[in-house]
Amino acid sequence: MVISAYRPHKTQNSSDRSESTGIVFDVAIIGAGVVGCAMARRFALNGLRVALLERGDDILSGASKANSAILHTGFDAPPGSLELQCIRDGYREYLDIHRTMNLPLFACGAMVVAWTEQEAEKLRPIREQALENGIDDVMPLERAEVTKVEPHLSDAALAGLRVPGEALIDPWSPFLAYVLQSIRLGAQVHLRTEVLGGDFDGKIWTLETARSRFRARHVVNCAGLYGDIVEQRLKGASDFAIKPRKGQFVVFEKSASRLLNGIVLPVPSEHTKGVVLTRTIFGNVLIGPTAEEQDDRARATVEREKMRALIDRAGQMLPAIRHISITAAYAGLRPASEKKEYRISMDGARNWITVGGIRSTGMTAALGIAHHVFGLYAGSTPRPAPGPEPSVSVPNLAEHLPRDWQKPGYDEIVCHCEMVTRRELEAALSGPLPAGDLGGLKRRTRCGMGQCQGFNCTARITALASPRIDARHDIIDGGQSNAG
Ligand SMILES: Cc1cc2nc3c(=O)[nH]c(=O)nc-3n(C[C@H](O)[C@H](O)[C@H](O)COP(=O)(O)OP(=O)(O)OC[C@H]3O[C@@H](n4cnc5c(N)ncnc54)[C@H](O)[C@@H]3O)c2cc1C
Repeated sequence: MVISAYRPHKTQNSSDRSESTGIVFDVAIIGAGVVGCAMARRFALNGLRVALLERGDDILSGASKANSAILHTGFDAPPGSLELQCIRDGYREYLDIHRTMNLPLFACGAMVVAWTEQEAEKLRPIREQALENGIDDVMPLERAEVTKVEPHLSDAALAGLRVPGEALIDPWSPFLAYVLQSIRLGAQVHLRTEVLGGDFDGKIWTLETARSRFRARHVVNCAGLYGDIVEQRLKGASDFAIKPRKGQFVVFEKSASRLLNGIVLPVPSEHTKGVVLTRTIFGNVLIGPTAEEQDDRARATVEREKMRALIDRAGQMLPAIRHISITAAYAGLRPASEKKEYRISMDGARNWITVGGIRSTGMTAALGIAHHVFGLYAGSTPRPAPGPEPSVSVPNLAEHLPRDWQKPGYDEIVCHCEMVTRRELEAALSGPLPAGDLGGLKRRTRCGMGQCQGFNCTARITALASPRIDARHDIIDGGQSNAG
């Protein structure tokens, strides 16, 4: 599927393998996860001709389809690191653009809670790290203050650290908006287009895909869980290796949200940020993620034992949640590498920029990463003048803001659990970047993501979607692209 502002929507089949358009793009971005989507926006805003190449049926179908959706301040990021810089820049830019672009923000704040004396001792160094990282509103809380912030929390909580800047966002709509902006600025988005190989002649890359051949002066590798494979395929070697780290989650029914005001963070360990209990912007409560290393880059299954442990942990932290039913369970894969830090580098001799190992904070950092990468690019080429930001519209799915069903003229509610209207589904199936599969349709509308998990609405959704997407295929593995 090819989407661009220049050409009408056109589907190619695999025998239609040709020189894409004769265009030499300024930049080919491999991978439309959160990082690739933000990258496309940044380069397009700066006047460059962009091709965004994605192997999946839709954008955000890799690591980015499942996360905790917390917009991090960077209070606990490694001081002085590129990760911290990108988190801070990404956070700031999101706060700057979310109003003008109508992107939701639930500014609920977070609290790091210590449940043992050893954890309580670690709160002071965490606060010192936050201050060093420039987050100066982090406040220590005594036991009584912890329960003032979260009155339903177990009285086993010993102490806390309030982090007012942590917030929740919709993990999908902003990135759809960024790609729509880039399309408005002339970018081409090619779905179902896996980059299989390539050649650099000293000036121009020719990228081989199963569909077409693309020519571009620069390549930015944002292939997430497959980042090292793309390096090997196109450059012959990779200086990092992806080690997928699975995170499993349990989602509680929406009535749980009256028990929680914001985000409850654990005291982090060396290896992981730990299990978080949080509201979601969609009105549920979420517990997770776990952290398990695996070799498989695609399969993100949930396991009964882990689910039990997460449900028990939620009950220990928030006893009243024991009476609330579970809506869903899902898992995501972090594109971790053998090192903790982001693996971002530029190979100037080959016009190649690697953006790899964006493991736990990429949703927040994506705009900052794009900014940093554009800086690397523009350091070696004349800097184009930044263009105006085109306005685009994406649906609001956040529970605290007006939803489509609350506005007149919606005609039919198709998913009653999540109150998704036919108008929202129609909009997601049309426009310059329609949903490419049922997973994408769910991410754009939340259809089938509520309490019945699509039991009541799947037939109707399929009927609406099937003329445009192959819904039958997606129903089989749609469960893996769930979210809170
Ligand atoms: C459990 C969990 C919880 C998280 N919680 C948070 C959080 O609360 N806050 C936060 O900020 N971040 C969070 N993250 C991190 C965030 O989700 C990741 O950092 C981010 O999704 C990584 O995005 P990416 O674009 O690098 O990779 P991906 O999303 O994997 O994108 C890469 C894309 O490249 C495509 N691709 C691969 N190979 C090719 C090829 N050869 N040709 C074309 N396309 C290709 C893939 O299909 C994919 O779509 C969490 C992650 C997980 C897993």
